[in-house]
Amino acid sequence: MVQAGGSVAVLFGILRLVPNSCRKLGYSPWRCSTAIRRPMTDLFDFKNRKLRFAVVGHPVMHSKSPQIHEAFARQCNVSLSYEAIALDPIAFEQGVRNLQAGGMAGLNVTLPFKEAAFGLCDEVSERARIANAVNTLTFLGGDQLTGDNTDGIGLVRDLQQNLKISCADAKVLVVGAGGAARGIVQPLLQTGPARLVIANRTASRARELAGSMGSPDRIYSCAIDEVSDSFDLVINATAASLSSEVPALPESVFHSQSHAYDLAYADQPTAFMRWALALGAAQAVDGLGMLVEQAAEAFWIWHRQRPQTAPVISALRSGAR
Ligand code: NAP
Repeated sequence: MVQAGGSVAVLFGILRLVPNSCRKLGYSPWRCSTAIRRPMTDLFDFKNRKLRFAVVGHPVMHSKSPQIHEAFARQCNVSLSYEAIALDPIAFEQGVRNLQAGGMAGLNVTLPFKEAAFGLCDEVSERARIANAVNTLTFLGGDQLTGDNTDGIGLVRDLQQNLKISCADAKVLVVGAGGAARGIVQPLLQTGPARLVIANRTASRARELAGSMGSPDRIYSCAIDEVSDSFDLVINATAASLSSEVPALPESVFHSQSHAYDLAYADQPTAFMRWALALGAAQAVDGLGMLVEQAAEAFWIWHRQRPQTAPVISALRSGAR
């Protein structure tokens, strides 16, 4: 009886301390709030303070996300591990649930799972809701999940802050209507282009994406082979570069001041970048900067710290680890 009473007192003591500890950690243990909540088990895992994260996709082993998050963690003195995990496309949900049960704190999601990840979430951010796609999952207590989409902010930061490319009053073409395109269209519209066209191999997906954005005066859609204008900024958001292909756009899509931006990235210029420069575009860049910027936003969601992105981009460009 004495022992049981003692244990109850200790338990009440711990429960009284939890809110204060949690406040110091920057989140609320009891309330559903916009702040990040972590499984309560993490609070008492004193032996292993390393939070575990991963990027999931198919394929995913080429991903640079582990290097990026580890570099951010070193900068910000955060203790974490970050892996690249290939999930079976026909058992995505089960794969995510297994990682959640295994104690992961959060996941980045890459192709082809962003729309499926959206469907698993109990709560999503406004930008993920508009995109209908999620690239950042945070595991809450129990089997709860929140989702966000950092692709759009990542692209816009790379364009505006790193590359000094302005979309204001520009004619912008987004090629593709998959998970990545869904994340970037609304943030691009917010940068004030004169006109934004979405072109996709499957025209109905472009139409559906354009229709879901609610700016009928500035947003248009068509099939890739129906593109007839030239554009100030052409963004390749298709998966074509992964197989060294180029979307079947007309050669007149670029003019001499055009910027070409490929969301894909590789050690060498992508097929789309080479093609754009051969057709006279002024500049062609890959999506490495966007990758680092979207990761920085995910890092902020998980750790409430903003790492510097420029040194990480240059380290990756120079092939340093
Ligand atoms: P996804 O959801 O699988 O969508 C693929 C898109 O590509 C669809 O619109 C598809 O058209 C189109 N497509 C595939 N092969 C094509 C081809 N040969 N010609 C023309 N269109 C083709 O993939 P995602 O998640 O949107 O990713 C797209 C690309 O963006 C990938 O290269 C990915 O690595 C890159 N990405 C980069 C970042 C970054 O941070 N840099 C972030 C996200 C994504 P249909 O609808 O007709 O099938």
